[in-house]
Amino acid sequence: MASGLPKINTEGLTSFIPEDKITELLQNKNTDKGRVREIIAKSLAKNRLNPDEMAVLLNAEDPEIIAEIKEGARNLKKTVYGNRIVLFAPLYVGNECINNCTYCGFRKSNLDVVRKTLTMKELEKEVRTLESRGHKRLILVYGEHPMYDADFIHDTVKKVYETKEGKGEIRRVNINAAPFDVEGFRKIKSAGIGTFQVFQETYHQETYRQVHPSGLKADYLWRLYSFDRAMEAGIDDVGMGALIGLYDHKFEALAMLYHTIHLEEKFGVGPHTISFPRIEPAIGTDYANHPPYQTSDADFMKMIAVIRLAVPYTGMILTAREPVALRNEAISYGVSQIDAGSDIGVGAYAREDEVSSDKKSQFVLSDNRSLDEVIGQLCDADFLPSFCTGCYRLGRTGEHFMEFAIPGFVKKFCTPNAILTLTEYLLDYASPSTREKGLRAIERELAAIPDANPLKQQLLQKLEQVKSGKRDLFF
Ligand code: SAM
Ligand code: SF4
Repeated sequence: MASGLPKINTEGLTSFIPEDKITELLQNKNTDKGRVREIIAKSLAKNRLNPDEMAVLLNAEDPEIIAEIKEGARNLKKTVYGNRIVLFAPLYVGNECINNCTYCGFRKSNLDVVRKTLTMKELEKEVRTLESRGHKRLILVYGEHPMYDADFIHDTVKKVYETKEGKGEIRRVNINAAPFDVEGFRKIKSAGIGTFQVFQETYHQETYRQVHPSGLKADYLWRLYSFDRAMEAGIDDVGMGALIGLYDHKFEALAMLYHTIHLEEKFGVGPHTISFPRIEPAIGTDYANHPPYQTSDADFMKMIAVIRLAVPYTGMILTAREPVALRNEAISYGVSQIDAGSDIGVGAYAREDEVSSDKKSQFVLSDNRSLDEVIGQLCDADFLPSFCTGCYRLGRTGEHFMEFAIPGFVKKFCTPNAILTLTEYLLDYASPSTREKGLRAIERELAAIPDANPLKQQLLQKLEQVKSGKRDLFF
C-alpha cells in the first residue's frame, strides 16, 4: 500500500553524522595559506574534498585567503561548467501539515496561514499559467499530511506532465515533500520524477529535536535515512539540503559532506543537488524573524564557494529567498540552478481566489523578478539560461557527475541544449527586449564554437528546425 502516511521504522539505524568530530574540525583555526592552496588545487584537479580539508576552508577568516577560495570556486565553475544556469519554478500543491517545525509558516499550530490544497483542476490551471510564461521545469512542493500520500503525489506529477498549453509543456518535475518508505518512493518514481528533495534542515540532533517538537518529522533518523530509502526504491537523483539559521552554518556544511560520503560509499553516487536555504520571515512565525544562527551575507557567500570546491560534481541550488545581487554573485561561484518568476502561495500563479498569496505562503521571497526579466538580465551578464532536460529524458542520470567527469560533455551536450531551449523561449514567450538580449547571447555562444567542429553544423540545423516550429530537440 502506498496510501496514507508511511510507517516509520528506524530500528537498527544509527547516525552517520559524527557531531563531535565535526565540532573538533571546526575548532582548528590554523589556516595556513599553503594548505589552502593545496586544497583548492585538489578540487580543481577534479577531486572531492575530505571533511578535514573542507573544514580548513570553512575556518578561513583572512580576507586574502577567502578571496582565493572564491577565486578557486569561480575557476572551477568557469572551466568545468561554463556559463549555463538552469531555470525552474516552484509550484506549491498543498500547505496542510501535521508537523510543527518552529520556523515554518505551514506548521500545524499556525492559525494565521490560510490552508489550501489544489484540486486537479486548479493544479492544471497553475501548470497552464507557468507553461504560458515559458517554464519547462518545476518543483512540486507539499506539506506533510495524510492527504499528500505517495498516490496523491504520483497523481499530481502525472497531471503536470499531461497538461499542455499551446507549445508549452513541463519536461521535468522535481519533488520537495516529506520522505516516504521504500514502497512510497517507488510509487512516486513511477510517475517519472526527476529529483526528490528532502532537506535535513539541521544535522545537529539536539537542535533538530528542539525545532521539530511533534509530528513524523520529529524523528531525526527517519529523515536522515530518507535518501537510503529513495535510492533503494531506484530514485537516483536526490536533493540534499540544510536550512541555514537553525545551527552553525559551518557545521551544517560539513555534515552535508558527511552525508554525501555516506551515499557515495553505500550507493556509489552522491546527491544530485545541494540546497542551503536561509530562513526567511514567515506569516505567524516569530522564530523565523529571529533565527538563532543568522548567517551574514559574507559568511553565506564563503560557504557557497566552499561547498562548490568540496563537492565539485554536485548541482547547487539557490532560490528566490535570496535577493538579486546575492544570487548573481553566487552563480559566479558555481550555483547551477535558480528559480525564476516564483510565487510560493498555494494557487498563486493562476490567482483564482481572493486570499492574497502571502497568506498561503510558507515564507517571504526576496527576488520577485519575472522569468522574462531574469532571462534578460542573465543574458546581459554573459550567462546562458537553460531549460535543458536532455539528460533526464535520455536516462542519463548523474548528469552533474558526467558534466564534471567526462571530457567535453558540457560542450557536446549541455551548451547546445541550453542554446536550443533558450531559443524556444525567445521565440515563444520572450518580450522584445529579452529576445534581443537572448539572441545576442546565442550569437556569442555560437561564435565560441569553431566552424570546423561538426557539432556546430548539427546545432545550426537543429536551430533552423526550432525556428520553423519544431520543439523539444536535444542532444
Ligand atoms: N513539508 C516537507 C518537508 O518538510 O520536508 C516539504 C518541504 S517544505 C514545504 C520545503 C522546505 O522549506 C523545508 O524543507 C525547509 O527547509 C524550508 N523552509 C521552511 N520554512 C522556511 C522559512 N521560514 N524560510 C525559508 N525556508 C523555509
Ligand atoms: Fe510542515 Fe514541511 Fe513546514 Fe515542517 S517544513 S511545518 S513539515 S511544511
